[in-house]
Amino acid sequence: MEVKARRLEGKVAIVTASTQGIGFAIAERFGLEGASVVVSSRKQKNVDEAVRKLQSKGVEVTGVVCHVSNPQQRKDLIDKTVQKYGHIDIVVSNAAANPTVDGILDMKESVLDKLWEINVKATILLLQDAASHLRKGSSVILISSIAGYHPQASLAMYGVTKTALLGLTKALAAEMSPDTRVNCVAPGFVPTHFADFLTKDETLRKTLEEQSLLKRLGTTEDMAAAAAFLASDDASYISGETLVVAGGTPSRL
Ligand code: NAP
Repeated sequence: MEVKARRLEGKVAIVTASTQGIGFAIAERFGLEGASVVVSSRKQKNVDEAVRKLQSKGVEVTGVVCHVSNPQQRKDLIDKTVQKYGHIDIVVSNAAANPTVDGILDMKESVLDKLWEINVKATILLLQDAASHLRKGSSVILISSIAGYHPQASLAMYGVTKTALLGLTKALAAEMSPDTRVNCVAPGFVPTHFADFLTKDETLRKTLEEQSLLKRLGTTEDMAAAAAFLASDDASYISGETLVVAGGTPSRL
C-alpha cells in the first residue's frame, strides 16, 4: 500500500479484530498516515504476527489480545492503550460474527445471542469503556455491511445486526457530540477469510462482481481508505453518517 497522506500524525487509534482482513488494512493505513495503532484479536499468535508485519513497515504499534465479547479483555485493550499512549483519538469497532447460513426462523437462540453480542453489544460495551479517554476531536467508526441494507439469504440475521449499527451510529453521534464524531463504513463484498463462503464460489463471485457498477469485488485497502478519511480532519464536519464502499452495488438512495 503506497500512502502519501499523513493525516493522522499524533493520533492514537484502536482497531478491533485487526490482525487480518479489513481490520488489519485499516490499522496499516492509519499507521502509515502517522497514527500509533493498537491491534487486537482473539489469538495471541495472530496479534504477534500483525504487530511484526506493521513494525516492518515502520508503524508504531502495540498488540493486545481482545475477544470483543470478553469484558476483561475489552478493559485490557483500553487500559493498555491509555497506559502506553495516554489517551485515545480513534476507535474502530470492526469485529463481527456470522456463525451460520440458517434462515432467521430456523436460528437457534444461542446463535441469535451470539450475533447480537458480537456484532452490536460488544461495540457498545467497548465504547462505554473507551468514552472517558476520548479526546476532543476524536472519531469513532463502526463497520457495518452492505448486508445491513439488503439482508439477503445466508446473511439475513447477520444483515439485521448490521442494520442495527446504522441506527447505533446515529444514536451515538448524538450522544457523543460535540467532542467525538461517530460514523460508519458499510463495505461491499471483499474477499477475506470472513467472506470465503461467498467469494470462493466462482459463480457467486461473478454474480457479486456483476452487481457492482465497477465490476469487481472490494479490497481491504478500499475499506481502509474510507475509514482513514472518516477518522481524519478531512471529515471534521461529518458525523452520524454511513459511507457505503461497495463499488455502486445497490444499497440505498
Ligand atoms: P476477516 O478477514 O475474516 O478477519 C477477521 C478478524 O477478526 C481476524 O483478525 C480475527 O482474528 C478477528 N476476530 C474474529 N472474531 C473476533 C472476535 N470475536 N473478537 C475479536 N477479534 C475477532 O474478516 P473481514 O472480512 O475483514 O471482516 C471485518 C469486518 O468487516 C466485519 O465486521 C464484517 O462484518 C465486515 N464486512 C466484511 C465484508 C466482506 O465481504 N469481507 C463485507 C461487509 C462487511 P482472530 O481469529 O485472532 O480473532
